[in-house]
Amino acid sequence: MYAPEFDYYRAGSVSEAAGLLRKYPGSKLLAGGQSLIPLLKLRLAAPVAVIDIGRIRDLKGITVKGGTIRVGAMTTHAELAASSELAEQCHALAQAAAGIGDPAVRNRGTIGGNVAHADPASDLPAVLVALEAKLTVEGPDGKRTLDAGGFFQGMMTTALKEHEILTAIEIPAHSKGQGSAYAKFAHPASRYAVIGVAAVVTTSGGKCSAARVAIGGMVPRPVRAASVERVLAGQELSAENIAKAAGQVTESLGNEVLGDIFASEQYRRSVAPVWVKRGLTQAAERAR
Ligand SMILES: Cc1cc2nc3c(=O)[nH]c(=O)nc-3n(C[C@H](O)[C@H](O)[C@H](O)COP(=O)(O)OP(=O)(O)OC[C@H]3O[C@@H](n4cnc5c(N)ncnc54)[C@H](O)[C@@H]3O)c2cc1C
Repeated sequence: MYAPEFDYYRAGSVSEAAGLLRKYPGSKLLAGGQSLIPLLKLRLAAPVAVIDIGRIRDLKGITVKGGTIRVGAMTTHAELAASSELAEQCHALAQAAAGIGDPAVRNRGTIGGNVAHADPASDLPAVLVALEAKLTVEGPDGKRTLDAGGFFQGMMTTALKEHEILTAIEIPAHSKGQGSAYAKFAHPASRYAVIGVAAVVTTSGGKCSAARVAIGGMVPRPVRAASVERVLAGQELSAENIAKAAGQVTESLGNEVLGDIFASEQYRRSVAPVWVKRGLTQAAERAR
């Protein structure tokens, strides 16, 4: 199907893009187009104007400074996956990006588009929640910074206001004794997450001093699995302790577990501990 008619603008800067969003109410930003273009072609979206932010240099790239990793919103999944800095200092993000879709999707799709779109089956939202990332957004009222935990508000719903643009994501680089990983039960056709588990483990004196686990795919927005984190804190990272903690995951999922033709709610609930165990085991190995 063809997309409905719309005007097309190419913004040269964030302020120009913000101005165009204000000037054309009901317009949409275009990043990698991997979600927006299908929506237009299916006529599930009909913006009056599409504002292309793909040539704004300030929105691209990965920099590491003083223990903080800054990722521009227009950085592609392929760039995240290929970054040696991320692989070393923020492994879960590079690992998750490497498993998104296929090479064509990874070469066009961006972290900003993935996060702003907030599809429950996307990989990066859960990763950013587990990494306690901070998201910078810019709009007519200036800049603000939001915690990833509060950014995702529901299915395809974020804290972004109408004229705001997500410009960058900041993540604390791993400290000594810390490791992270992402384990995904991928849909066999699209590779979207049926269940996605992002885990960050901090070790001290041979024990787990803190664990952060975020679950995506099976719930409308990524959630922290506090029930798992609690059981693991202060324990040795043995296979037995990890399995015991992972077994507590459904306690944190509430009654909003999604089900579809591929994987029912009950099925997702029953296999979730397996994927939490895999995520935690990999993160623990990287922390040693
Ligand atoms: C076949 C296929 C398989 C896929 N598999 C996976 C997968 O396995 N895992 C996964 O996580 N994802 C998957 N995706 C999604 C893909 O990863 C993209 O990240 C995602 O579609 C959106 O990124 P984009 O840059 O293409 O954004 P676009 O499609 O350009 O935009 C998406 C939405 O975000 C808004 N937006 C974009 N950038 C910004 C910004 N900076 N500030 C504010 N709003 C913004 C747009 O206006 C639009 O509403 C898949 C997509 C396809 C087509």
